Amino acid sequence: MSGSTSEIEDEAVVLRTYKSGESDRVCVLWTRHHGKLRVLAKGVRKTSSRMGGSLEPMGHVKVHLVKGRGDLWITKHVAHLERLATLRGDYERISAGLAVVEAVDAIPTDEAADEGIFEMLVRVLLTLDHLEFYPELVASSFFFKLLCYDGSEPVVDVCVNCGSSGPLVAFNAEVGGTLCVNCRSGTAISADALGLIRRILGGELAAVLRDEHPAGAREVMSLAHDAIEVHLGRRLKVARSTAPLAAPPPGPAAPPSPPFEAHEG
Ligand SMILES: [Zn+2]
Repeated sequence: MSGSTSEIEDEAVVLRTYKSGESDRVCVLWTRHHGKLRVLAKGVRKTSSRMGGSLEPMGHVKVHLVKGRGDLWITKHVAHLERLATLRGDYERISAGLAVVEAVDAIPTDEAADEGIFEMLVRVLLTLDHLEFYPELVASSFFFKLLCYDGSEPVVDVCVNCGSSGPLVAFNAEVGGTLCVNCRSGTAISADALGLIRRILGGELAAVLRDEHPAGAREVMSLAHDAIEVHLGRRLKVARSTAPLAAPPPGPAAPPSPPFEAHEG
């Protein structure tokens, strides 16, 4: 994309927002074609603003932007692409979505576009907006998929240190995977948690997310959080969820929608 363009239209997901001045807001967007952008939304905090609602974290929007000062862009027009009403109506889904956008916001970027991450981001939000999928493991699965996308897929079929097939009793994000009894370091891992991670990485994500409360889920959440923090080289603020899993309302018999999978390249 040309760096000298003064006006752009693009599709974006809002990662984060912060206040600016009396009534403005700066939004950090991950766009499909223009990478990560900082955007000034003028007057958006006034009650009369029509743009305000769409420029919230996790918003999936179409934006028309004009170049401002420095690396800042200014919103000319913003429109919702997805309302995400189911996601926004459930605390656990919102928490998972916020953990996802926080992780994406922490990805080191050289301002280059990364459409693969954009696609994963949109699909994870749609997954969270779908009652067929339980939100508990969505953020954790996304973290593992992000590692795969970046070429850092954890080793979970053998001991990452000696190559032995097991039994595998520990997981260490620092060394990139599971460890046998002789090489063990990091965190102990149960057979249930190991099985879940293998299913998430092995193409069974949709089935995992349809399972209301799979055994080992809490462990997987903790290990995924460790792994993404090691990978990104920083702590994520969003708390590890310890809230009990609330039963979702009965959903309509909706057709299955594909959960997010990394698209290489
Ligand atoms: Zn070993």
